[in-house]
Amino acid sequence: MNYRGRFAPSPTGLLHFGSLVAAVGSWLCARHAGGQWLLRVDDIDPPREVAGSAQSILAALPAFGLVADAPPLYQSQRQAAHQEAFDRLRAAGLVFPCWCSRAQLAEAGGFHRDGHCLAQPQADRPPAWRLRAPDLAVAFDDALQGRQQQNLRDEAGDFVIRRVEGLHAYHLACVVDDAFQGITEVVRGTDLLDSTARQIWLQRCLSLPTPTYLHLPLALDAHGRKLSKSERAHPVDPADPVPALRRALAFLDVQTSATARTPEALLKAALDGFEPARLPHLAARPA
Ligand code: GLU
Repeated sequence: MNYRGRFAPSPTGLLHFGSLVAAVGSWLCARHAGGQWLLRVDDIDPPREVAGSAQSILAALPAFGLVADAPPLYQSQRQAAHQEAFDRLRAAGLVFPCWCSRAQLAEAGGFHRDGHCLAQPQADRPPAWRLRAPDLAVAFDDALQGRQQQNLRDEAGDFVIRRVEGLHAYHLACVVDDAFQGITEVVRGTDLLDSTARQIWLQRCLSLPTPTYLHLPLALDAHGRKLSKSERAHPVDPADPVPALRRALAFLDVQTSATARTPEALLKAALDGFEPARLPHLAARPA
């Protein structure tokens, strides 16, 4: 099978160091495999979106030498496909409407279990829709983090696939669009490691293929917190790409040329001798 990888930023701010690491890591794995590297813009959450950030992220990537093999896929244009997947889950009886509030669930231990709602149906308010989480252990071998296993009922609970506002949730859109783009390996940060079992379960429910997964160490700020676009932390400057690209490669323990002066030359040198298995087998490290 031909390798197809992707980078899937959410347009919630400028490209920052943490997302540059994910972009570089996924690009290196795809190029190392002689495969394709695709882009997806995860713009399915208008309330969280920052105007202009999709364009600025997409414009920044080539400045760092990261050029995709196809035009980006915008999730906002995939709503019909997300709806179709939702309808199939609903027709199969796998989802249920839910009016439970966060506070109610927090009181009950944080998880929604066994399709059992604490709130009564409310005719005047639309529900969220949850996928029932079976008492089943979903396991997978992460190419970097090793064997992972999660009991869906106990560790994830019935999870939202369509929000109260009528928006399809990330997990649903992600698996539908990974399949649509023919993604064979998902390379992303360990902040999403915990989401993977749910995504694999959704793939099974929808008869979609399961890609392989490689979760890169997460970049932490000085306080040990995830660098987050929404906190506008650590933007990287596409007008001066070489220093940030060097830092991203060093963060991933990837050797490169000490003398290269362009992003393209740095990446070319980084690919020589690149071996995905030698990426740091860490969940997180300081940026
Ligand atoms: N859009 C997600 C993010 O920026 C990443 C989704 C993914 O790689 O599956 O955190």
